[in-house]
Formats: sequence, C-alpha cells, structure tokens
Amino acid sequence: MSNFRTLDQADVKNKRVLLRVDLNVPMENGKVSDATRIARAMPTIFEIADKGGKVILLSHLGRPKGPDAKDSLKTIAAEVARVIGRKVSFVEDCIGAKAEAAIAAMKPGDIVCLENTRFHKGEEKNDPGFIAALAKLGDLWVNDAFSVSHRAHVSTEGLGHALPAYAGRAMQAELDALSAALEAPQRPVAAVVGGAKVSTKLELLGNLVAKVNTLIIGGGMANTFLAAQGKPVGKSLCEHDLAATARDILAKAKAKGCEIVLPVDATVAKKFEANAPSRAVAIDSVGSDDMILDIGPRSIEHVISVLARVKTLVWNGPFGAFELEPFDIGTIEVAEAAAELTEAHKLVSVAGGGDTVAALNAAGVVDRFTYVSTAGGAFLEWMEGKALPGVEVLRIK
Ligand code: AMP
Repeated sequence: MSNFRTLDQADVKNKRVLLRVDLNVPMENGKVSDATRIARAMPTIFEIADKGGKVILLSHLGRPKGPDAKDSLKTIAAEVARVIGRKVSFVEDCIGAKAEAAIAAMKPGDIVCLENTRFHKGEEKNDPGFIAALAKLGDLWVNDAFSVSHRAHVSTEGLGHALPAYAGRAMQAELDALSAALEAPQRPVAAVVGGAKVSTKLELLGNLVAKVNTLIIGGGMANTFLAAQGKPVGKSLCEHDLAATARDILAKAKAKGCEIVLPVDATVAKKFEANAPSRAVAIDSVGSDDMILDIGPRSIEHVISVLARVKTLVWNGPFGAFELEPFDIGTIEVAEAAAELTEAHKLVSVAGGGDTVAALNAAGVVDRFTYVSTAGGAFLEWMEGKALPGVEVLRIK
C-alpha cells in the first residue's frame, strides 16, 4: 500500500473531509435490505470523526437522471446513523447554499450525509464546474468506495485533482488484498473463472492467462471451451460462435505456460429448474438433450486437488447454476475446500463480483476467505488488469 496516500498521511483535525463511501445499498420496500456496505465504511468514518475531523459523506444511489425522491439518500443516512450508532445529519443537496450552511455549522467529530451526487448531471461527466462546487465544501477528499472507483466521476475521481486525496481504510484493505492476490502474489496462483458467458469475460480470461499459473474454467462458459474442443454439450448454455476465440485463449495459455483446468465430468439435467432430475456424466458423454448445469463430482475433486497445490486463489463466477439446487454443489464444495485451506494458512483466497459474493454467501464461506470484495464491476475491471481512475488518483506520483 505504500504506493497510495492513506489516512496515515492525512491531517484531518478540524478539517472538512469529503468522504466518498458507497451507500448504493440494496433496498426492498423502501428499506435497506443489506447494510454490508455501510458497515464497511464504519472504520473510516469513526477514525476521521475521532481524530476531530468533520465527516461529510458523499455517495450515489441508483441511476437517477436528475433529482428523484426514490433515489434520495435520506432513508439511507438514517440507516447509517442506526448502524454506526452516531448522529448523522442529512442535507437535501450535495452542493449550493444548503450544503454550505450545514457544513459551516459542523463541529469536529460531526457527521453529515449529503444528497445523492447523481442528482447533478455534472457528477457522471466529471464536469469541472461540479468539481469546483463540491471541492469548496471540503479541505480534503478521502475515497473509501473501491466499488465505484472504475468510474471517473466527480465524487470518485475528479475531486482527487482538486483536493488532497487519500484512500480510506476500506479502500486500503481492498487494495492490499487485491495486490496480494494478483500483483505480487505468492505463487503458484490459480484463478477460477465461472459464470454464464465467455463473451462477458473475454478481457478477464485474456489477462489471467498471462498472470496466473493455473486457470480453472467453470460455469456456462466452460461449455464454450468444451464445444470448441469438439466435445458434445447438448442443449447447454454455449456460445458456439465464440469457438475460435476460446481456442485462441487456450493457445495463448499454452504459450504463456498457464495450465487450463476444464470440467472432466458434469451434472446434467433436461430442464433448467430447481430439483430437476439430474445425473453425473463424463464430459464426453453429454447427451443431445442434456443441459450441463454444474461441474460433476470428479471435476470437484480435481479442482480441489489443484487448490491444494497452489498458494493463492482469485475467484470470479460460480461453477454452475448455483441459484438452483442441487446445481450449487460444485460451487459450494470448492468454496468450502478453499475456506478450509485458507483457515489452515495454506492458501490466500480472494473472491469478488456480484454473483460470486451471492454464491459464496450461500456456501457460508465469505468470512472464511482471506478477502471477499463486494465490488462488482470494479473487481472485474481490476481482474482484467485495467487501471481504475478512482484508485489511480490516490497513487503517490
Ligand atoms: P456471471 O454473472 O457471468 O458471473 O454469471 C453468473 C450466472 O451464471 C449465474 O446466474 C449462474 O446461474 C449462471 N451459470 C453458471 N453456470 C451455468 C450453467 N452451466 N448453465 C447455465 N447458467 C449457468
């Protein structure tokens, strides 16, 4: 982390700290249904407040086209107050006279939450006028929202050019974990890439074969690779038009010395539904009306044996249609093995992406992995080897 400015270098006492957090939390019936992101912001909020800083929370919520009551952060500010057990004042705009007055009245240690930054069009355009209007409300800017740092928006990136910029503690933990997994990992490194389609993860696969020692391919996307090798996939989800691309990825892997692990057997069913009658078949014996919905027992064993001989694991995407029982078994059993190896200090395990977190949650292993990123798009872009604007702006030049 020495490459980034952190709160260790920030003098926040009596300062107005614009703190970008991710309060874009899931809501159901007007209530916050999962407060994980709020909890992750807590250490940074407390540290700044307890050092005598004035904490000014900035976040987006949803994708509003302009001010829209349904995307107001008002309810969420109240939920932040409940989760952290401190008073959090809410201000109905994030710039202008109301915000200026509320911030002028703040005392050291106070916490204020400003309204959704996306109520202003300038936010997503990284507009200089909007940068200036926000920057004048603060003395420094802290980015604690890794999950939105793949966006060059005013609150996630632009402010870092106008004010002294620092990584918050959640951002710091995320960057530490991610660099330990792919930038300077203990080798050998294995990556699991699962999920539905090759087409959504082409850049990911291309980057990984150059970086990891073993690439384990599961999920629907494995079918595209299997079909490209002439194996029967029946009625499985498969992008037949990407056969040549899949073969290119396999050739690149070979050239880079990256071992590819594909399923050797599969759990197949005739219907894509929970508890559909299913059976395990060797990968050469998938019938013409079968659908591959999970990796089979021999593949699970094989993947676990690979994990036992590597030191680092990076994981994105489930091994099967994990939302439908029993096609969650591959994902659950491999996740359980990875958790056990992690607990035995034999493996550094890092996972991320929306569906992956849901799958690992269902497997009950999230707290047993070294690090699970709740970031979706940002985690994927990082795994793809892309520079994230909201992270780059924190780098010590
Ligand atoms: P992704 O968003 O690309 O990580 O894909 C996750 C989705 O892939 C989940 O909804 C899974 O149900 C789906 N998936 C994984 N394996 C299969 C499969 N063999 N057949 C159909 N869908 C799958």
